[in-house]
Amino acid sequence: MTKKLYLDDPYRKEFEANVIDSKENKVILDQTCFYPTSGGQPCDLGYLNGVKVLNVYKDGDEIVHLLENQIEEKYVKGIIDWGRRFENMQQHTGQHILSQSFVISFGKKAYSTSLHIGESHNKIDIFGKYTKKDIEMVENLANDIVFENRKVKCYFAEREEIKDRLRKIPEGIKKLRIVEIEGFDLTACGGTHVRNTGEIGLIKITDFIRKGEFTRLEFLCGLKALKDYRYKNYEFKNAVNLLNSQNISEEIEKIQNERKDLIKKIRRLEEDLSDYEVSEMLKNSEKIGKYKLIMKVYKDRDIESLIKKFDQEDIIVFLANKKNGYIMGFSRIKEINMGKIMREIGKFIDGSGGGSENLGKAGGKNSEGIERAFNFLRKEVKKIIS
Ligand SMILES: [Zn+2]
Repeated sequence: MTKKLYLDDPYRKEFEANVIDSKENKVILDQTCFYPTSGGQPCDLGYLNGVKVLNVYKDGDEIVHLLENQIEEKYVKGIIDWGRRFENMQQHTGQHILSQSFVISFGKKAYSTSLHIGESHNKIDIFGKYTKKDIEMVENLANDIVFENRKVKCYFAEREEIKDRLRKIPEGIKKLRIVEIEGFDLTACGGTHVRNTGEIGLIKITDFIRKGEFTRLEFLCGLKALKDYRYKNYEFKNAVNLLNSQNISEEIEKIQNERKDLIKKIRRLEEDLSDYEVSEMLKNSEKIGKYKLIMKVYKDRDIESLIKKFDQEDIIVFLANKKNGYIMGFSRIKEINMGKIMREIGKFIDGSGGGSENLGKAGGKNSEGIERAFNFLRKEVKKIIS
């Protein structure tokens, strides 16, 4: 069984230990300062004899250190990434305060579950439904406990002796490790915690959403809260500069409404332009007997909505969009089966086509072939109707 040095002294950063077992890159020691991932708290990282520790996890009573490379030595010196550990201690102790603040404010039914200390955010579920005002009240109480700089003590106690004083009682364990925040909270926990609540720094609930019968909180403590504030402050100042106003939401709403109006206006103008284009195309069409032939290649144009503007009985229209390699055709003339023609045209643009008797479409990846396709179409149409 690995001796857990982090339980006696969570502020210890370096240690020495004997290697009990070593297989491939996995090492088990007789004692360790490395906290293994458990109870919602991520594991410590660091070095064993200068080799990077990539992961630490529990395997029964043992703690496994996964290393970047295999080590041969039977005796190791270990050092943990203290910045990461301290941040985790801030989050974890902050969570104890937050959980108890809910119980004090709303009674025992407001219990916590599913703690997750993550890279960017911590999460915890609290039973019940809460308003923004409730959340702010709890947040204020939690921060008061931080500012009072209360002592945090860790010790072992018999379950039967202490269970009535605990916020949450774990099943099946006789000897419990207790984390006590003086005059405020008693809870059974195997994690690492700070010595005084002042070390936690700010406790901030950053978001809350309903999750069935629970409310899921996102929160940050200490250094993580500072990083988040730094980022949000930077973003806020940028937005204020860009909008030239402190009322960001109001200004964005205004911009969104203006955008909606502009889109409507553009659509109306496009409509007008299309009507004009269609009348010009009809005017300049090529006469083939009693019919009119219209052929036009666009660099990039919504030909699908443009072709819908044609409904005359005496026309044949072919439109192409070079950008996406599309060709469309329309005609009501009985002798012309547009779907069939479009099926044949697909090969010119390395694609395929089809459609109904009146309306057809072809698409392919080679838009360079559109010119040859149009030459073919002109000949084909003339052959059919002359
Ligand atoms: Zn804890």
